[in-house]
Amino acid sequence: MKNRRLGRRRLPWKIVICLMVMVAIATIIVVILLMRKDNSSQNQAESQYSTPTDVETHESDNVEEVKSDSPEEQPTPTIPPASIPGGNCTTGLGKLMLINANYTVNSDFISVRKSQLVDISALYGITEANAWNGTPLVDEEAAQHLNDMVKAYEAAYPGHTLQTMSCFRSIGTSCGRLCAPTGTSEHHSGYTCDLIDTAYGNTLDTDYYPEHIDWQWLKANSYKYGFIDRYPVEWAGSSMMQPINLTEDGTTGYYETWHYRYVGIPEATEIATGKYNNGAYDSLEHYLKMRGFLNSLTAGTCNQ
Ligand SMILES: [Zn+2]
Repeated sequence: MKNRRLGRRRLPWKIVICLMVMVAIATIIVVILLMRKDNSSQNQAESQYSTPTDVETHESDNVEEVKSDSPEEQPTPTIPPASIPGGNCTTGLGKLMLINANYTVNSDFISVRKSQLVDISALYGITEANAWNGTPLVDEEAAQHLNDMVKAYEAAYPGHTLQTMSCFRSIGTSCGRLCAPTGTSEHHSGYTCDLIDTAYGNTLDTDYYPEHIDWQWLKANSYKYGFIDRYPVEWAGSSMMQPINLTEDGTTGYYETWHYRYVGIPEATEIATGKYNNGAYDSLEHYLKMRGFLNSLTAGTCNQ
C-alpha cells in the first residue's frame, strides 16, 4: 500500500513537469509566432507606400549621398575634351581637334581650355617675344614636344633662339587673312604657337619668313616632334587678298609660315609625308576628312 501510495504520489509530479515543459514550449512558439506576425505586418505597411524598386533606388541614393558627403571620397573633377562645351564636334578628337571658320568654339570652351594648359616659360624657359600676349600657355603633352623641338633647333644653330609670338589666345583678331576672329582661331586649342627666331627680329612676314633657316628647319623636322606647318601656301586657297572661302577640298584659308600646330608624332608624320595627299604636305582639314572624322568641312559636321 505504501508503495502504491508512493507510486500514486510520483505520477502527478511527472505530469506536472511534463505540463510545465509543454507550457514553456508552447509559450516560446506563441512568442515566436507573434514576433513573425509583427514583422510581416510592418513590411506590409511599408509596401503600401513603396515598391521594392523604390526601396532599392532609395538605398542607392543614400549610398551616393554618403559618398558625396565624404570629402576624402570626392573625385577630382576632370573634364575630358569630349565634354567641353562649345558645339564643335571635333573637340572630342583631342590633339586632332579642328578650329576654323566652320568648326568654331565658344567662350565656355575657351575658358575651360585655358585652365588646362601649362606655362612653357616657367616650365622650359621658352619665352614670349611680345609681352602684350601674356604668358605662353600650351597643352602639357604638346609643351613637352615643343621643348624638345626648340632645344633641337637651338642645338643645330648655336646663337639662335626660338621664342613664341603667342600660343594660347582667349580672343581672336579681325585683321583679314592673317588673323582669325574669336571662336574661329586655332590659338584657342592650346596646341598651337607662332614661333620666331630672335636672330631675325620678331616680325611675322609670311613671304620673308621662309628665307630663314628656322622656318626651313621647322618645316623639315617639326613632324618628328609631333608638330605641323599648319598653314602652308599650297592649302591657303584663293589669293590672300580675297575673303576666306573654305571648301570641301580642305583649304585652310591661311598662309602663316610661323604657325605650328601639335597633332602628335604619328599624325604629324602622315601629314608631313602626305599619306593621304599623294606624298605632298597635307592640310589638317583634308587629313581629317580623308581619315573619315569629318562629314562636311563647310557645314562643320563630324562622322559620329
Ligand atoms: Zn598663329
